[in-house]
Amino acid sequence: MFSGTLLCPYCGGVLNTTTGVGVYTCQSCGKNNYASRSDLTSMMSDRPLGDAIVTVLDLATDNAPRALEKVEELIEENGETPDLMFTRGCVYAHMGEDGKAHNDWKTGLSLLDTFNDIDAYVCLICDAIADLIIYKEVEFIEFDYQRYIDRISREIYECIGDSCRAIVYSTLYRIYMTKLRDMHMGVEDDLFTDIVPRIFRRIIEYTRDYRETIVTIERFLNQVGFDEETYEDDDDYECYLYHLVKLYLVAYTAEMTDADAEAIMLQWNDENMSVLEDHFEEIVSCVRDPTMLQGILSIKNDECIADLPEAVNGYVTEYLLLKHEDSEEPETV
Ligand SMILES: [Zn+2]
Repeated sequence: MFSGTLLCPYCGGVLNTTTGVGVYTCQSCGKNNYASRSDLTSMMSDRPLGDAIVTVLDLATDNAPRALEKVEELIEENGETPDLMFTRGCVYAHMGEDGKAHNDWKTGLSLLDTFNDIDAYVCLICDAIADLIIYKEVEFIEFDYQRYIDRISREIYECIGDSCRAIVYSTLYRIYMTKLRDMHMGVEDDLFTDIVPRIFRRIIEYTRDYRETIVTIERFLNQVGFDEETYEDDDDYECYLYHLVKLYLVAYTAEMTDADAEAIMLQWNDENMSVLEDHFEEIVSCVRDPTMLQGILSIKNDECIADLPEAVNGYVTEYLLLKHEDSEEPETV
């Protein structure tokens, strides 16, 4: 990805790229990582009851009540296995039953005796949550999906001991965008503007490898058609914020090595990154209401948005673990 070596997004270990097509097993933690995040059929089909599970998942989209009957039958015959609990949770999600889905996923997690397949479950859950979000949005049902996903990723983290919030959010993002495309929805539609900015923020707040953060921002800005020349007219300050984060990251890390990147990555985890989340959320709310920048920068003037670079500088140096006295603004910014 960056230096020819694929790193495990869970533990930072080296991935064995000869495991199989699209499946990379981590040499450190043993987890299987899936290149495709949405090909649930190939993730599940080799597993015990795989074919039956794939049938249930396919059915869940068109006829969720029938899918529920089927998975209940499977549970009656085979007991509550992790695969079946995760699957039933997905069926519930398709029915809009977020609470029941969450309970089943929690049970599935508690039944695991190895975490090698957690990545497949993450993909499974994210696919279901993407549909759940669309369902609630289309039906105008209030649903704090960010709180929901935060809670589920915290539970996965507590269970497996590896940071996973950025993995969950970026998997959800990829699957959700594919679904929007299939529905012929674009970046102007409510399903994008109401949902994606909050998902994307979490990816930035919790990605531990800055190299990935840079690539993620680049892709996102391309996708939404961000234009540095016209963002003011477009009233696109949030994208401008990401643009600045990228500029500062690139400038500060120009001389850093892969080893530096890994060292920074290993200092962060889903728990201590809540500091970054708070910091970034504060800047985002300032972008939405520039007068608030006066508060966090202790400045008193009207040109608040002009001080955004200073706020971003503070955030990026914190993320990169640079001491403040070392962090003179890079000249390239
Ligand atoms: Zn690993």
